[in-house]
This record gives sequence, structure tokens and C-alpha cells, in this order.
Amino acid sequence: MKPDLDAIEALAPEREALWTRIDKATFLTQNEKRAAVGYGPVEVSDPAGLTPSPGDIGQKFNPNHDELGRFTFGPDGAVDGSERPQPARARTGQRPPRPPARRQPPPAPPASRPHPHTDLAPPQPLEPQEAIDAYRAVHNMPPGVGTVAFAKIDGTPYLGVNSTAPGYTDADYAAAVRMRDMLVEKYPDVMRAENPGWKPNDALFHAEATTLLRAAEANGGTLAGRTIAIRVDRDMCWSCDAVLPLVGLELGNPSVTIIDPTGSRGTMRNGTWRR
Ligand SMILES: [Zn+2]
Repeated sequence: MKPDLDAIEALAPEREALWTRIDKATFLTQNEKRAAVGYGPVEVSDPAGLTPSPGDIGQKFNPNHDELGRFTFGPDGAVDGSERPQPARARTGQRPPRPPARRQPPPAPPASRPHPHTDLAPPQPLEPQEAIDAYRAVHNMPPGVGTVAFAKIDGTPYLGVNSTAPGYTDADYAAAVRMRDMLVEKYPDVMRAENPGWKPNDALFHAEATTLLRAAEANGGTLAGRTIAIRVDRDMCWSCDAVLPLVGLELGNPSVTIIDPTGSRGTMRNGTWRR
């Protein structure tokens, strides 16, 4: 049995701050954000039978709640003025409902319940290592399994993983293959044309390249003029050392600094490393 962290009043401020920061992470889905702060997904299987059967689709499972779980009517049919948001997980059967003595409602996505402090002080975004840790937590990636990289460009976070890690998409693979084939064509002395799967061509499928390709895709295909720091939770491999400067060159020649777990940095520009 896991402790209900939200019920420990002393931890509440830290939990709220963590939640607010995780909610800013655009690379996490809503359920991933919920998982990162210890909540189950909004839509889960329902052994208690509270979920409407297929024939009931279109009906609310409880006529006294709206879609957000808020009470709409009291028992006598009168409008309940409280309108307090209820935790969605209380309906899923996954975790027990909040004890009535609790003074504050549990955290909910600000989309449905604006955070009372949000307009007083903007929340701090996740630090790179926190973002990497959150991604590993929600995807059950223990340390040492796979690679996660994180960069922030103009305040927008970009996260990349290696091609066998959770969250790597068909679009990531297609972009990597396109870039690999282009590099094989242009730099036959570096790339392995005779077998595209050989090293160092595999660098296109590593977390560093995934991050750069995703960032470029989101910025009209180019990172020209950018200065980018990428935090990576694994030492850079030989393939990336050889190929990443060429990837940068093809993506508009930004200045890219790779920061490995030891804090050691390497900066690449103009197709080469400046160490
Ligand atoms: Zn690599």
C-alpha cells in the first residue's frame, strides 16, 4: 500500500509545485502527467462496474455529476451551489475516494481547475534532469535502460529518446531514416553507404538526434541561428560523436552543446566539435 502523499500536509506545497511544473511539460500526455504525480490514468478498466456499458454510451454514469465529476444536483434535485471539482480517480475504482476531512481538493489539471497561485507567480518549468526523471518515471524506464535527452528552445521543451525506448514514434523513425539517407549521400567518407544499419549510421536513432529532429520538425524544419543545450542521461557514443555535427549542419547549423551525466560538455557547430 502506497502512502497518499497528498494527505501528508507537510508535503503539500512541494507536491503542488511539482504538479504545476509537470503540467507545463508539453511533451507529456495528460495521463503521463497524472502518473508523474502519483495518480492513475483518467480512463482505466473498471472492475467495480461504474463505467457505462457500450449500450449506455452517451449517458453520464452518474446523473448527479458532469463530465468533470462535479456535482450538478443535490439529492433532492436542487442545484448544488458548491460546484467543487471531484477527483476523477474517485470514479475509476483505482484508488479510494478522498477522506472528507481533507481541507483542499486534490490537484487536478488546471484545464479543469485553475491553480489558485498560478496568477500570482509563474511556476518554474522543470529542470532538464527533472524532466528526464519524470519521463523515465511515467514510462517505467529504469536508470541505465535506453537514453533520454532534453533540450529547451525559446522556452519550449523538447525531449528525445533512442529508437527502442517508449515514446519513440513512426514519425521519429521516418525522420531519422530521411536524415540518414541524406547524410550517406553527402558524406560517404563518414557514413556507411554499403550497409545503412552499421555504425555510425545508428546515431540517427539515438536520443540526441531524436531531440534535434523533433525540435527542427517543430520549427519549420530548421534550427538556424539557435543556441541549444541538450542534456542527455548517458555518455555520448562514438557514432554520435562522428555524426551529430553533420546532423546539426543539415538542420541549419545551430550551436549545439551536449551535456552528459557527468556535466561534461561538447559544443558542435559548422559540422565539427569545439571542445
Ligand atoms: Zn549515440
